[in-house]
Amino acid sequence: MPYHEFECSKCIPERKKHAVVKGPGEDLTSALPLGYLNTIPGTISERGCAYCGAKHVIGSPMKDVIHMSHGPIGCTYDTWQTKRYISDNDNFQLKYTFATDMKEKHVVFGAEQLLKKNMIEAFKAFPNIKRMTVYQTCASALIGDDLNAIAQEVMDELPDVDVFVCNSPGFAGPSQSGGHHKINIAWINQKVGTVEPKEITSDYVINYVGEYNIQGDQEVMQDFFKRMGVQILSTFTGNGSYDDLRAMHRAHLNVLECARSAEYICNELRVRYGIPRLDIDGFGFEPLGNSLRKIALFFGIEERAQAIIDEETARWKPELDWYKARLTGKKVCLWPGGSKLWHWAHVIHEEMGVDVVSVYTKFGHQGDMEKGISRCEEGALAIDDPNELEGLEAMETLKPDIIFTGKRPGEVAKKIRVPYLNAHGYHNGPWKGWEGWVRFARDIYNAIYSPLHELSKLDISKDEIPGDKGFVTQRMLSDANLPEEVRNSTTLREYTGKFDCLEALRHKTYPTFERKAAAVAG
Ligand code: SF4
Repeated sequence: MPYHEFECSKCIPERKKHAVVKGPGEDLTSALPLGYLNTIPGTISERGCAYCGAKHVIGSPMKDVIHMSHGPIGCTYDTWQTKRYISDNDNFQLKYTFATDMKEKHVVFGAEQLLKKNMIEAFKAFPNIKRMTVYQTCASALIGDDLNAIAQEVMDELPDVDVFVCNSPGFAGPSQSGGHHKINIAWINQKVGTVEPKEITSDYVINYVGEYNIQGDQEVMQDFFKRMGVQILSTFTGNGSYDDLRAMHRAHLNVLECARSAEYICNELRVRYGIPRLDIDGFGFEPLGNSLRKIALFFGIEERAQAIIDEETARWKPELDWYKARLTGKKVCLWPGGSKLWHWAHVIHEEMGVDVVSVYTKFGHQGDMEKGISRCEEGALAIDDPNELEGLEAMETLKPDIIFTGKRPGEVAKKIRVPYLNAHGYHNGPWKGWEGWVRFARDIYNAIYSPLHELSKLDISKDEIPGDKGFVTQRMLSDANLPEEVRNSTTLREYTGKFDCLEALRHKTYPTFERKAAAVAG
């Protein structure tokens, strides 16, 4: 029987079918954990709400927009303050968050005029920003405020502005995933096709979808596309521009990263505009190389992709292998929110040598779990929508060397002195791209071997630290059992990139490729 019953959840019998152990040769297609269901009363979930999924995950990474929440102030702060969805326009979207600050009197008497006043005030405060997204919350949905009507009134009064409305209150689904779906569909219904692209500069034009520029991931991937002569018409939505996203209908191909949060708009773009969808993966040497090859194959420019793959692999492989030698056999609980469990499960094992002893998802669907389980090690524990006590019990049983997760379960791990990396906001990202993957390996290495974790097990008030042993460095810890030839290798080396690897990308110039029409005319 592959289902796993947690001791701490015996009093919630419905939890039994939400955890599975991957046993040898077991057919998990008949025993996947249940997923994407309402959280069972009695279990304290780590999920976010559907408003959070719409605004904080997908809407707010857009960089040239005032993001306005129509509701109590707490909705707009919660979780946004730790996001690292940066942009190349001085992080406007991270610096400010806007809310109508609904109070009890607004619930009783209505808050439409409050919304209108706030929208106009925000546009006046930031006269250079002419675009706005407005998000419904539980409070404004329950009293029936008509956000669309108010948005139209504001657009009529201020003809140079454009407003997008997302009706995805907190209760619009079992988790943030419900909000992902709602905003995908709302965007294509309201905005796609309402402007034409500023300029088409290439024969190969893509929308880059489901990419949120966490610590610069989008900018790293954009570099590869530009080197291939592929134009990114829009990015949905990290570092993305509102008006570029209104012109998504003119791309030749939708290149999709996070299928969990953004496959819906890709599927609609295919149905309504005939634009094909191609799923890719920017994490890991092999998956990233294959992804660039697939895009290149679609456009018939394979040699351009291969040149990048060869150059980047030669530059970064010795550094990845330095970390792999020191991480092999380390146990990890891979506990991100959704799709990273299957983006990472196999490739961190193959390319960094770590063993995935558990996967979990907070808002993933059964399909995400199916892919994640198929890619992790035998014996791994797969958990859907875990609660804090289950996480603790799993860590005490599995004894991982590290966990990759969000800040809330990360805090729990710290309490029992298990190092954690923030799988949502990263530590020293970007983690996409060849260099990014080495940065990820370096973060894992630093977390596992940090002397701080050794020290945290001691009670320093009792002077227990032996004073005669000196300071133990990471190398002394990680290299102790390595063979001589690996320890003293002249080819392997630690990360040699810069602390800020984005600055140079933002000022880089790219070759121009001859257009097909120009070649024919010439
Ligand atoms: S569940 Fe409702 S009230 Fe709570 S944060 Fe989400 S939108 Fe706001």
